[in-house]
Amino acid sequence: YVAKGRSIGVAGYDPLDDVNTIERLALLGDLRRALSNDELYLVYQPKISLTDGALGSVEALLRWKHPERGLVPPDAFIPLAENTGLIGHLTRHVLDLALAQSRAWMDAGTPLRIAVNTSARNLHDEEFDRTVRGLLTRHGVEPSMLLLEVTESALMADPVRARQLLQRLAAQGIAISIDDFGAGYTSIKQLRSLPITELKVDQSFVQAMEQDEGEELIVRSVIELGRNLGLTTVAEGVETPQALVKLASFGCDVAQGYVLARPMTAPDLDHWRSQWRGLAALISA
Ligand code: C2E
Ligand code: MG
Ligand code: MG
Ligand code: MG
Repeated sequence: YVAKGRSIGVAGYDPLDDVNTIERLALLGDLRRALSNDELYLVYQPKISLTDGALGSVEALLRWKHPERGLVPPDAFIPLAENTGLIGHLTRHVLDLALAQSRAWMDAGTPLRIAVNTSARNLHDEEFDRTVRGLLTRHGVEPSMLLLEVTESALMADPVRARQLLQRLAAQGIAISIDDFGAGYTSIKQLRSLPITELKVDQSFVQAMEQDEGEELIVRSVIELGRNLGLTTVAEGVETPQALVKLASFGCDVAQGYVLARPMTAPDLDHWRSQWRGLAALISA
């Protein structure tokens, strides 16, 4: 099968099909330029413990400030990079930015673990673990300060190869998280065979849970599965205090979402951190 955008092996609608080839080529050319022009930057979204309200880590999310188009969302250009091979450079660039920030937080006496998103192609690159190790060394960052988020669909594109690479990364002390879990077809057996420490429930379920008991059952089941496998469970895309309370009652370990904090630039995050007083105020509101 052909991998298209972020849905792999699924015959579905892909918005990229509607964009004409010239337009795509133009954007791709711009993206190549953006890589060397400081047009790409990272924002950081807190991942908060539902047990004690602590800021455990942040997820780095890529932003592109295009000189003419303005802010281009990652869903509009990451699939493009994935389909052309530019994703190798892009992920390397993101890791470089994230690890420089990690180093800066460490030097400021406020260390913080960072999660970085990866793509299917990165998992098929035999050199990827060496690339990551090289960047960690260059920035003087401990592997335990880095977590790599791998989507369930990326894993499924080539499970055997992906598992081998993840094992090499995990052996270095880098934590691995499965992102967007529940939307794909990973078996429990496959999940058990992977060197992962964290499971992120796909935000579509987290958001639908409030109106639909069936979706709520999915969220509960994924959290229970994660717990039974000894993994840290994370709910992403949490938008209301009610959902936070529900997730905590299901035994979910960590939450991420607009109700807690939006993705922020590093200076804004530093400010947010100095103001953050835990979950109590949010939940009683
Ligand atoms: P993701 O890794 O699943 O990230 C979660 C997305 O949900 C982010 O969108 C985040 O801004 C958004 N989000 C967080 N909280 C909420 C909420 O409460 N409600 C709603 N509606 N959305 C929320 P974003 O930043 O647009 O990124 C979209 C996707 O693009 C990411 O999904 C990830 O798959 C990809 N992506 C972003 N940055 C990178 C990157 O550096 N490398 C790679 N390979 N992919 C990236
Ligand atoms: Mg992610
Ligand atoms: Mg996700
Ligand atoms: Mg996602």
